[in-house]
Amino acid sequence: METIKEAWSGILEYLHQLEDISEVAYKVWISCIEPHSIEDGEVVVYVHTNFQRKIISQHYADRLQEAFEQVLGIPLGLKILSGEDEGTSSSTASAAGTEEFPDPGNLFGQKSSDYEYSFENFIVGSSNKFAHAAAQAVASKPAGYYNPLFIYGGSGLGKTHLLYAICNEIKRNQPDVKIIYTKGEYIANELIEAIGSGTTPDFRAKYRQVDVLLVDDIQFIAGKTSTQEEFFHTFDALHQANKQIVLTSDRPPREISTLEERLRTRFEMGLLADIQPPDLETRIAIIKRKAQLLEISISDDIAEYIATQLKSNVRQLEGAVKNMRAQYLLEGEQPSLITAQNAIRDIRNDSQPVPVTVERIINEVARTMNVSPDDIRSTKRSAPISQARQVAAYVVRAITAMPMKSIGQEFGTRDHSTIVYAIQKVEARMEKDPSFKGMVSDIVKNISEK
Ligand code: ADP
Ligand code: MG
Repeated sequence: METIKEAWSGILEYLHQLEDISEVAYKVWISCIEPHSIEDGEVVVYVHTNFQRKIISQHYADRLQEAFEQVLGIPLGLKILSGEDEGTSSSTASAAGTEEFPDPGNLFGQKSSDYEYSFENFIVGSSNKFAHAAAQAVASKPAGYYNPLFIYGGSGLGKTHLLYAICNEIKRNQPDVKIIYTKGEYIANELIEAIGSGTTPDFRAKYRQVDVLLVDDIQFIAGKTSTQEEFFHTFDALHQANKQIVLTSDRPPREISTLEERLRTRFEMGLLADIQPPDLETRIAIIKRKAQLLEISISDDIAEYIATQLKSNVRQLEGAVKNMRAQYLLEGEQPSLITAQNAIRDIRNDSQPVPVTVERIINEVARTMNVSPDDIRSTKRSAPISQARQVAAYVVRAITAMPMKSIGQEFGTRDHSTIVYAIQKVEARMEKDPSFKGMVSDIVKNISEK
């Protein structure tokens, strides 16, 4: 059978010609679906947000299944994964890996399906003007001004947007420049794979031939010894060859406690630019711009109302606009104070912290402490594995508030007293050993920030 990816254009064509799916609905809800695979009789697809998933499964699942049957000739179920699901980003990570300049419409989870992450679409206010100016300078002349440029700030404040804008701009002005956009987490995964398969020279070669290296969320390499080691050499090689490096992180280098000192020094030797949450005026401007890009008209007082309600995160502002657009497209509700209130309520509900899974914790601990996730779950007793298992148990307890007994079950058949002991051991060591404490707290932060 052809793969779902090969068959996808046929499926889209089928859906496109259906009369009960309007042109706009097709554009908004169907064309953004990314096929992934067929597993256990189900077509697995990706969308970006939980909201999209909800709409598609409520309104279009039947039509999609009908299309699968028509085009592929067999009845198949539908499974929709969202980019906001935990774990999705890392599972796509290894598939996407790094890309030589991702077409910023292609790197799943990072693109906006509606508009380009460009400088033009980035609203500048006092909270981000420094980072914006620095990014523009770097884009206009790579390696000409600040190297590295290190952009940091909280989640949803525009770091990735700026990184993409740099990418787009350079590509536009100098199409031959070799650019890699990647994420700290991908680098760590890729390196672990390279070490496992004896292909570290390829890894090295790949990164050292670029003119511009953009690494999003670099904080994920902290604490991971071999990744940091390798990245350090890559950094130096590129820097010495006068190649541009841009990094982003949720914190400044000095607050990433398990970042190796020599890397911290490197990261700080160019320009550090922070992004703060936007002020009211900027928030209003962002809402209006997003409304314009998403082709929906939102009046000034409604924009202001949303901006006074959602304060700390631009992603949420954008979510509110998209939600209002959906209410309009699906239910014909013109943007109003009521649809704005609905949108805000949905966003507040959606933004409850995603429950952290034990799996995610085990993966992060395994990556940091250089053992495999299976080892952590096993009954092996070698010192590094036991230690990683204890840290994992501690972190599970610290951030999920799961009962000891259930934690025990997650780690094989260990009974609850083993877990209590493990946690005490980690606590005792954290008290005595500041670098160990730093490592554990970085693990906790990395997991909580995702
Ligand atoms: P971060 O990487 O810091 O978590 P993103 O770059 O992913 O945040 O931004 C989240 C969303 O908010 C994106 O859709 C982005 O376009 C939007 N955004 C953030 N800041 C701005 C801004 N100043 N102007 C316009 N859109 C913005
Ligand atoms: Mg980001």
